[in-house]
Amino acid sequence: MATQPFDVVVAGGGLAGASVGGVLARSGLGVLVVEKERVFRDRIRGELTWPWGHHEALRAGLGEALVQAGAVNRPALDFYADGQRVDSLRWADVSIDALPAIAFSHPLLQETLLTWAEAQGATVMRPAKVAAVQDGHRPVVTIIANGRTTEVRARLIVGADGKKSGARRWLGAETVTDAEHHWFGGLLLSGVPWDDTFGWATTPAAAVGWFATSSDSCRVYIRLRADQVRAAGIAHSVDKFVDFAAKFMPSGTMDGARKTGPLGFFPNSCTWSSRTALGHAVLVGDAAGALDPTQGLGTSLLFRDVRGLSELLADNGNWERATSEFAYQRHAYYGVLRAYDRWCALLDAEEGPEADRRRELNAAAREADPTLGGFAMLEACGPDGLVPDEEARRIYFGE
Ligand SMILES: Cc1cc2nc3c(=O)[nH]c(=O)nc-3n(C[C@H](O)[C@H](O)[C@H](O)COP(=O)(O)OP(=O)(O)OC[C@H]3O[C@@H](n4cnc5c(N)ncnc54)[C@H](O)[C@@H]3O)c2cc1C
Repeated sequence: MATQPFDVVVAGGGLAGASVGGVLARSGLGVLVVEKERVFRDRIRGELTWPWGHHEALRAGLGEALVQAGAVNRPALDFYADGQRVDSLRWADVSIDALPAIAFSHPLLQETLLTWAEAQGATVMRPAKVAAVQDGHRPVVTIIANGRTTEVRARLIVGADGKKSGARRWLGAETVTDAEHHWFGGLLLSGVPWDDTFGWATTPAAAVGWFATSSDSCRVYIRLRADQVRAAGIAHSVDKFVDFAAKFMPSGTMDGARKTGPLGFFPNSCTWSSRTALGHAVLVGDAAGALDPTQGLGTSLLFRDVRGLSELLADNGNWERATSEFAYQRHAYYGVLRAYDRWCALLDAEEGPEADRRRELNAAAREADPTLGGFAMLEACGPDGLVPDEEARRIYFGE
């Protein structure tokens, strides 16, 4: 058992943990990042960050790491119906600083960010697991690595251990989750000739999204009701998944597709912690609150967390005050994103006459105000300043 003090111990070295660890180390703090996986693998996670999240990542100082990880610009969002492109949104027309969306390999970005965090001065323990935290004036973190237990003291513990976070219990918090409404699944393919856009085809019954993450990798996502996923057999058969997605894309797009990663589906529900900060512990990324993956806002959210928390800690000698302020702000912007996820699900993924009427009203409202009170700009400009109240809901739905 060794005891060694750090300013900050980060539990989890995913995109959120590695980013926050690197940014805090760069500011001169003593940081330890603990990551339980020896090697990152494809877990079918976010590989597209919208312009808002791109902007947040650059503000946090992560631009160099994004380049090192081979992140590529995705300047447009193209909408498809019956295999034909019917509309296109150029991000440069609407985003902050005319920034594009970016695409990347998730495991490669995890690996790169962890290496980058070390280069900024952070210590990385891997594979190692944070097993417990005892609160106190200087909390004690128990870490298990190679069958050995180490105790480390720190001024602040950052829980960045993902959607199924164990760190929540160190804050005495509970996991809260919305009812599951659809499933969202993905598969990485090679042999799919594709351009530099994000393709999105949505009908009330299903949605398919696809984009190249590199010159020979295409990520394909499908949103469908759980019973329909089972009936279509697409959660366990690559051929069925590919055939299903191909029907939404331009003819021939999937003719040469070959599987290069695992296939998996996940419930589309927001899941969050009942508390974001307490005493010497604070949560970021999916650990603080994960979103419905359909809208693809999870990585933008975590970059917002990294930027916000690191700025508050730098500006405030009293870290308990800084983390409570972070929790307050996080609650506000997570609330906006969660409301938006629910509104999109109601609008895009429901069938029947009532849902059709809702879509008509929304389309008319969009004609009058293309920003829909700011909510239709969320992927481009982010949630700050928006309030998801009844008035905003009425504007969004054109009521
Ligand atoms: C199917 C799907 C598609 C998605 N698509 C998009 C998209 O297109 N765009 C987008 O922005 N978002 C998307 N998301 C969401 C995005 O992937 C997540 O929001 C993001 O990965 C969260 O990152 P994180 O670092 O908070 O958590 P995680 O990626 O879960 O990282 C947590 C890390 O902590 C480690 N860990 C856990 N417990 C411990 C412990 N006790 N000790 C040490 N280490 C520990 C884990 O090994 C892991 O590396 C998608 C999600 C899903 C499921």
